[in-house]
Amino acid sequence: METIGFTENQMTVREAVATLCAKFPNSYWQEHDQHEQDPKEFHAALAKDGWLGIALPEELGGSGLGISEATMMMQAIAESGAGMAGAQSIHGNVYATQPLARFGNQEQREGTIPKIISGEWRTCFGVTEPNTGLDTLRLRTLAQKSADGQLYSVTGQKIWITCAQVARKMMLLARTTPLEEVKKPSEGLSLFCIDLDRENTPGLDMRKIKKMGGRAVDANEVFFDNYPIPADTLIGAENQGFKIILQGMNAERCLLAGEALGLGYAAVARATGYARERVVFGRPIGANQGIAHPLADAYMRLEAAKHATYHAARLYDQSQSTGDASSKVRQGAVGVAANTAKYLAAEAAFTACERAVLTHGGMGYAVEYDVERWLRECLVPRIAPVSREMVMNYIGEKVLGLPRSY
Ligand SMILES: Cc1cc2nc3c(=O)[nH]c(=O)nc-3n(C[C@H](O)[C@H](O)[C@H](O)COP(=O)(O)OP(=O)(O)OC[C@H]3O[C@@H](n4cnc5c(N)ncnc54)[C@H](O)[C@@H]3O)c2cc1C
Repeated sequence: METIGFTENQMTVREAVATLCAKFPNSYWQEHDQHEQDPKEFHAALAKDGWLGIALPEELGGSGLGISEATMMMQAIAESGAGMAGAQSIHGNVYATQPLARFGNQEQREGTIPKIISGEWRTCFGVTEPNTGLDTLRLRTLAQKSADGQLYSVTGQKIWITCAQVARKMMLLARTTPLEEVKKPSEGLSLFCIDLDRENTPGLDMRKIKKMGGRAVDANEVFFDNYPIPADTLIGAENQGFKIILQGMNAERCLLAGEALGLGYAAVARATGYARERVVFGRPIGANQGIAHPLADAYMRLEAAKHATYHAARLYDQSQSTGDASSKVRQGAVGVAANTAKYLAAEAAFTACERAVLTHGGMGYAVEYDVERWLRECLVPRIAPVSREMVMNYIGEKVLGLPRSY
């Protein structure tokens, strides 16, 4: 990757994280993928060196840096060969904590964030539901307040929740006012930071989903059946959860874009190395334009997506600054930039990973060359946290002013 234009902080992060990741070679990720083993040593190593708090406030033990630096960290992790599995093993702790840091009260912030930064607790993000999918605003999981106001009782189902098996906490988006009783579907949702306590509290169950890639990291269906949560787990105001969680969602899109870039650059680097060395018909295969041009094209797509990604991260950070309101970046502008970045980076990563496999010929299909693992994993940023189609719906409607199509 061309690194001109990055800040000193970003470059320091990139180099330090790459050094740490070098202790976890591709063989580590191949094994953890094959055996579906949580990369807990990797999570612990990042926590030990303080990386999980990169974008969290200094007074809570974080580094007080921004999403621009966190995105660089996620890129460096994926680029090291750890891929999406490495990134997903920690990224919830980086982005799902953003709304908590901003909207949580002092007790919630001080009681939770330092433990997540130190690695003692892990967290996950509980939004997607099996019956509503991308139509997030219609999600059905209900949190009903008890008569004495001390508890909420949660009933519903979440799906695809990354790291729920190893997480102590979940940032849960649930409905506190039924859909029929709100003016707009974006109203009546609330955000909670809850304990995932299967041992001592009845009403919580989960099931691992067998998946295509990133198998080192668990993905789950999570079932709530009158699961009690204390009322003080509510983050911010009741029924305002969607506005609050948007903070986390835009940050998540930037981080995912960085992760996709990392995968893509790793794939291009691996493929070009192979193309220089592999000799067929008496010359390196990279001497054929049929091999060189697709890789050059993949590299340029990554470079373009890189600019979109770090532009979005910069806008996100500016939107969070405490300066006067007139100098603040609108959330809408951040949303457009973050969605654009996620889309472009995911597409560029897919192109790069597919071409890396094809450059390797038959060996592209062999586990020991890693490119098959990265190809399996690079589908994730195309699907999650928001699909390509929904990004295009959003840009079509919000930017181009076209009629809403759904
Ligand atoms: C590996 C992985 C990890 C994940 N981790 C998490 C997590 O930690 N927490 C969490 O909450 N979620 C997580 N997700 C869920 C992810 O965010 C969703 O899978 C994603 O948002 C897509 O939702 P869906 O699967 O319900 O697709 P659906 O909503 O069922 O959509 C299916 C297809 O139809 C298309 N489609 C639907 N409506 C329209 C429309 N109006 N116009 C055009 N196309 C449309 C979609 O683009 C998509 O291609 C994860 C998913 C994966 C695969």
